Amino acid sequence: MDRAHYDQVVRTFFNCDPPAISEIFREFLLAMQAEETLPPAAHMTQNYETAAANPEIHLLPGNLKDARDTVFPYFWGTDSWSSPLHLENVKGPANYASLVGALACLLKNPNLCTDTYSQRSNELEVKAVTALANLLFYHTKDPWGVFTMGGTISNLYGARIGIEKSLPGAMQRGLQGVKLAGIVSEAAHYSGRSITGWLGLGTENLHAIPTDASMAMRLDLLAEKLETLSREGYRVAFVCATFGTTDAFGTDDVAGIRRILDSFAQQHSVPAPQLHVDAAVGWVLSFLAEYDTTQNPLEFSPELLPLVQRVQQGLVGLRLADSVTIDFHKMGWGHYPGSAFIVNRRSDLRYLSRTVEDTPYFSEADSRRDPALFTLECSRPALGPYTVMASLNSIGLTGWQMLVARSLELAQRLKQNLERLDYCKVLNLDTVGPSVVWWVLPQGRDAKAIYQDMIAGRLSTERYHQYTHEIQKVFERREREADPKLDARLSYTTSIGFRPHGLNLPAWKAVLFNPRTDEAILDRLVRGIEELS
Ligand SMILES: *Cc1c(COP(=O)(O)O)cnc(C)c1O
Repeated sequence: MDRAHYDQVVRTFFNCDPPAISEIFREFLLAMQAEETLPPAAHMTQNYETAAANPEIHLLPGNLKDARDTVFPYFWGTDSWSSPLHLENVKGPANYASLVGALACLLKNPNLCTDTYSQRSNELEVKAVTALANLLFYHTKDPWGVFTMGGTISNLYGARIGIEKSLPGAMQRGLQGVKLAGIVSEAAHYSGRSITGWLGLGTENLHAIPTDASMAMRLDLLAEKLETLSREGYRVAFVCATFGTTDAFGTDDVAGIRRILDSFAQQHSVPAPQLHVDAAVGWVLSFLAEYDTTQNPLEFSPELLPLVQRVQQGLVGLRLADSVTIDFHKMGWGHYPGSAFIVNRRSDLRYLSRTVEDTPYFSEADSRRDPALFTLECSRPALGPYTVMASLNSIGLTGWQMLVARSLELAQRLKQNLERLDYCKVLNLDTVGPSVVWWVLPQGRDAKAIYQDMIAGRLSTERYHQYTHEIQKVFERREREADPKLDARLSYTTSIGFRPHGLNLPAWKAVLFNPRTDEAILDRLVRGIEELS
């Protein structure tokens, strides 16, 4: 081997050259800044046609700028979603404290599997998980948890514990023909189906309970379903409540569900199903849990205070959950992946544990702290703990309170301004959160009367199809006519989760997720609707 050539490769790619690295990073930052002066949109179209056609790898070793040049075409001209005009859900702007945390993490590249590979990063995970658990459960004695790849996987952990509680030994022996079921609401995220499919329960054994008009699981129907399943010989492994549904921000009554599960377990002498709460989006409200609405130290507006009080009532139920999913990469303005699975009582993790004999790579692992002994993943990135703790501690509790309160305030304003229009109907007036889902019908229609007819079951199939068609047509017209430089971008959902008489409710959707969105943008949105219809 040509040793000089080899040494050149090692020097270029394995010796840290801070000026070279910061220069490339500065160039990326400049490119991003330049993009932010453009209206929100994808400026470079995709080119899947030949994406697979020329998968060549460069022949000769290059340098770090080749790395830059390789990824740059996929970086430049793509929307970074930092514009305040983005009111779609799921992806919002990540905060820059999170970026600082992420970069620090990438420099050390820890692996959270065990202490040996993580150095001190496992400590940071314990800190992050405890901080989040304290927010959710209000200082319960013994919470614990881990960061995972996403809300789906965090929910999977909850379901997996439920299976083991209702069928001990399933980890080793499988389901052995025992009939197991899981329960969610009709407004729950589709990840419930992925999980029951992947865990071998089968998607058909996930039962979706209808919700009321506030997108909360109907407790009467939950109680009925538990009895029916029990009569049919099923064990219910878990009930996954949703705290903040993806579209409309409905929140299930966790305390009510707890009561039903406990009394069911007692009557039938069975273990209570795992009560997991999917708070992937809704957890962020917990920053307001202890806000003093009497003293009002942050001078929230008088209209906001009743909303904060309602949030606080809803949060009380979270303390009764067995486990919770939170996604920092959703409403936490954090980087992917930043999801945490948190248990209220650490001892519940024993349902997931494996022995040191099962994990020969980690013979030094200590079951008191090494997560590899119970996590699904083997290697696990530390981005979650780094980005979350960096964000939590630099923004600070009151910083978070202001960010969350502001998005509630803006959502409320948008709801009120839309509800004033006869041909509009806000579908989630009763939920407190950053999302707004609503109908816009052609002018002259009485949207509220149509909604009432729908709830009462008075809407014929033809009228249902006609109105839902109109709602979509008006949406498409706005999309065509909107000025991308000035008009907010919205999304459209075909079902908000509440399904009166089995009918899906489609809706226009906006999420007040971007802290830079302001009243002027919302007022223009409402004016635009008035001019459209
Ligand atoms: C997004 C979402 C999930 C899934 O989370 P991922 O991080 O995308 O896997 C689960 N539940 C709810 C309510 C969500 O909104």
